Amino acid sequence: MNYSNCYAFQVSVLIQLMLMTFGSVQKPLLIFLSKAGADNVVLEETAGYPIVYGEKIIDSKLPTVLVYGHYDVQPSVPNELWHTPPFEPTVKDGKIYARGACDDKGQMFMHVKAFETMMQTQELACNIKFMIEGEEEVGSNNLGTYCKANKEKLKADVILISDTSMLANDLPSIDVGLRGLSYVEVEVTGPNIDLHSGVYGGAVGNPINVLCDMIAKMKDDKQHITIPGFYDDVVVVSEADRAAMAKTPFDLDAYKSHLDIEDVMGEEGYSTIERTGIRPTLDVNGIWGGYTGEGAKTVLPSKAYAKISMRLVPNPVFR
Ligand SMILES: [Zn+2]
Repeated sequence: MNYSNCYAFQVSVLIQLMLMTFGSVQKPLLIFLSKAGADNVVLEETAGYPIVYGEKIIDSKLPTVLVYGHYDVQPSVPNELWHTPPFEPTVKDGKIYARGACDDKGQMFMHVKAFETMMQTQELACNIKFMIEGEEEVGSNNLGTYCKANKEKLKADVILISDTSMLANDLPSIDVGLRGLSYVEVEVTGPNIDLHSGVYGGAVGNPINVLCDMIAKMKDDKQHITIPGFYDDVVVVSEADRAAMAKTPFDLDAYKSHLDIEDVMGEEGYSTIERTGIRPTLDVNGIWGGYTGEGAKTVLPSKAYAKISMRLVPNPVFR
C-alpha cells in the first residue's frame, strides 16, 4: 500500500507507541481516538484482549456508521525473511514496513485520521462508532459475546470494514462479501513410540506418509475438494453475478508476475477472481512431524500433524 510520507510517519508513530506500551497496546489508540474528537472512548474488557470503543453522535436522526478494525497482528515468523525488524516500523519510499502495518493498523488508523479531519473541517455528515478488537487474527473469540451484550450501543446502519483486499493500489474497491473460515489441526498417530526406519521401515505405517497421502487425496486433479458432502449446500452464484465479476479489471499476467509464478492453480471451471471470492477452498497451512533439524535422523515417527484451513462460502455447515 502506498502512503504519503506524512501518513506513513503517523502510522509508524502509532505502531511504535503500541510497541512501547507492550502489554497495553490499546492505550495509544484510546489517546488517538480521543484526540480525534470521539466521545465515550473506553477500553472494553473481554475474556481475552480488550476492545477499543469510541463514538461521535452528532444527531440521532442521522445514519450511524460503525467502523470495525483490529489492532492485533499475525505472527512475524519467519523473522529471518524480514529485511527490517518486524516490530520496528521502518518508512522506506513512503511505505511502512512493519508487522501488521497494512493488516490492520494502517487501515484502522486511516479511519481515525479521516474522522479527525472531518471533525476539524466540520464535515462529519453522520454518527460514527469505532469498535477495534484485538483478537481478529485468532478467530475473534470474544467479539460475538461483546456484540450480543452491547446490541444497543453498537447499533448502526452501516458497518465499515477496511480489512479486506483491493484489486490494485490505484483502483478503489468495495468488497461486498467475505468468505468464512474453518480451521482444524489433524494428528495422526502410528506406533506408540518413534522407531528406527532401518529396523521397522517398510513394515509399520509411517504417520507422515499416511498424513501426506490423506492430504493428497483431499483434492482431485481438477482441484475439486473430494471430502464427501463438501459442496452439498454451497450457494451457486448466479450467472449475472459471475458476469459482473468477469468485468472487474483484473490483470492475470500482473497477478502471476507479482507472485513470480508461471501459472495459477485452482478449481477447474472458475476464474481466479471466482476462486478467491465465491468458491470454498482447502489449504494445508502447516505440516510437521519426525525430524526436521539439520542433517539426517532415520526416524519413523510416532505422530504427524497438520493444520488445515477451509475458506467457506454460504451455506454449508460443517460438523
Ligand atoms: Zn486483518
